[in-house]
Amino acid sequence: MTQRHVIKTLNKYPIHSLPIPIHAIEEIIADNGYSLSCCDGICKPCIYQFELILPKFKTTSDCRYALAHELGHISVHGREKSTIDTISKHEAIADAFALYFTMPPYLFEKDIKRMNEWDLAEKYGMPVEQVINRMKLCDHYQYQ
Ligand SMILES: [Zn+2]
Repeated sequence: MTQRHVIKTLNKYPIHSLPIPIHAIEEIIADNGYSLSCCDGICKPCIYQFELILPKFKTTSDCRYALAHELGHISVHGREKSTIDTISKHEAIADAFALYFTMPPYLFEKDIKRMNEWDLAEKYGMPVEQVINRMKLCDHYQYQ
């Protein structure tokens, strides 16, 4: 389900370089009608009405993952208000979206056969722990 959403997004906004550029994710978010701003005083990104407010990130890979996660909320859930009991489900979906989006289907599944998690982290510009989470989403998860 989430994977299909990511493929639809990547088809609409083709990205030809890896790691997926931060500005490319920001442009897709802006194209969905959201403005982005940065705030020093917060530790997690938050969406308020049509504004996405971001904290200062320590690393580019953290920033990339967080932006992709927020894009997941925006493109999967849109503007519908979430109720309390679906918040954790929404988070899980946004996380899966971020993993598929930053480590695109097919490409990643091919790379997993010949690269280790450190090389994958470098190629896709993601934290190693997220690479491992992405590996768990592969149909034939054979990494040991
Ligand atoms: Zn979230």
